[in-house]
Amino acid sequence: MAFDLTLTEEQQQARDWAHDFAQKEFRDAQIDGMAAHRYYDETESFPWEIVKKAYDVGLYGMDYYTMAGQDPTGITTALIIEELFWGCAGIGLAIFGSGLALAGLAATGTGEQIGTWAPRIFGTPDDVKVGAYAVSEPGAGSDVSKIRTRAEKVEGGWLLNGEKIWITNGGIADVHIVVATVDPKLGHRGQASFIVTQDMEGFSMTKKTKKLGIRASHTAEIAFVDVFVPDDHLLGGEDKLNDKIERAKNPDAAKKSKSGALSTFEATRPIVGIQAVGIARAAFEQSVKYAMERETFGVPIIRHQAIAFKLADMATEIDAARLLCWRGINMGSTWQTFKYGEGSMAKLKAGRVAVWATDEAIQIHGGFGYSREFDVEKFHRDSKIYEIFEGTKEIQQLVIGRQIARHFGGLSA
Ligand SMILES: Cc1cc2nc3c(=O)[nH]c(=O)nc-3n(C[C@H](O)[C@H](O)[C@H](O)COP(=O)(O)OP(=O)(O)OC[C@H]3O[C@@H](n4cnc5c(N)ncnc54)[C@H](O)[C@@H]3O)c2cc1C
Repeated sequence: MAFDLTLTEEQQQARDWAHDFAQKEFRDAQIDGMAAHRYYDETESFPWEIVKKAYDVGLYGMDYYTMAGQDPTGITTALIIEELFWGCAGIGLAIFGSGLALAGLAATGTGEQIGTWAPRIFGTPDDVKVGAYAVSEPGAGSDVSKIRTRAEKVEGGWLLNGEKIWITNGGIADVHIVVATVDPKLGHRGQASFIVTQDMEGFSMTKKTKKLGIRASHTAEIAFVDVFVPDDHLLGGEDKLNDKIERAKNPDAAKKSKSGALSTFEATRPIVGIQAVGIARAAFEQSVKYAMERETFGVPIIRHQAIAFKLADMATEIDAARLLCWRGINMGSTWQTFKYGEGSMAKLKAGRVAVWATDEAIQIHGGFGYSREFDVEKFHRDSKIYEIFEGTKEIQQLVIGRQIARHFGGLSA
């Protein structure tokens, strides 16, 4: 296909539709005398009402993923996500956090398991649910091979014991995709994913985590004490798991096998990157507006070259980050192989740009930027997570670095 960045009419409509929703429901709607995005940030509460509205209009649930999937380029997804995260990253994540559970399910589940559990992640418009993907633990964040949540085979199923931290939607989700180890000695090759539902005995949310930013998104610690998980809740089934373990015990085959959790994260990274682009753009737009209104020394501050250059750099970097994310999302949507860590490049760049651009936005706003009267302080707090979750920026560099070494013959494939 010829190289073309022109958006189709459908893509433009999807972008405008998502933008209008974010403007109306996140920015304009008032709760207790506050704009909705500020209310959920201040109260650190989950915006169930907005997720329900998103479901009603088609921005949440399986219908949304079916609609977005109709654009084979993946760019519709990128456009919608950028607009919603432009509106509020915390609320955006409350709407899109379940997508990670869906990705985890799709990565390892059988066709039948996907058919059964994917709709249950989202519930129905009258009974909205969210999903969670639980990998991280106190001793296993970047290093997922150290997962210690244990799955032991028992009659008719598995017993899960352990704890997870930092889990988006943890404990409030109906469906949790939980990565556990069946043999810790085998690292990620001894791991499997299980479906744990909120009502299972022995499963609990042990702590809601208070955060710097994205406060409308729920983050929590969850625990498993002898949670019985039926056989059909093991994603991919037992034969596939036994095969994987057998291969892991064979040193040559083990070297070639990949972590399910790692491949899920790699495929979703550019989609996470475009969320950061949405925050950066929001900060940029508010900075342009402020720079045209605020006067010092007799002129609007945009007329000072120091401020104009900041805005010029912000515009340039945001466009660069967006293009990398579009490339990554397009590669994922068209099943291309990520040869040089293109997914990680997109997230690395977008996270850095969001943190840097929101910092510049505070600077442009002077003292007002540091106060809660303007949104730029919130944008800065929201942006930082994009250098941490779904792989820290250092881990993105590690992935890209390894791919470069492979490409130039420094590591075997
Ligand atoms: C708000 C929030 C939501 C989250 N949501 C989820 C979720 O839904 N599901 C889930 O499973 N997890 C989730 N996480 C967890 C997140 O993915 C981890 O926090 C992240 O992977 C980093 O792991 P860690 O916190 O253990 O840091 P560590 O791995 O301990 O890293 C600490 C520091 O060391 C650096 N570092 C580590 N290893 C290396 C290395 N080899 N080379 C160079 N530097 C290195 C890191 O980059 C980082 O700077 C969430 C986290 C947060 C804060």
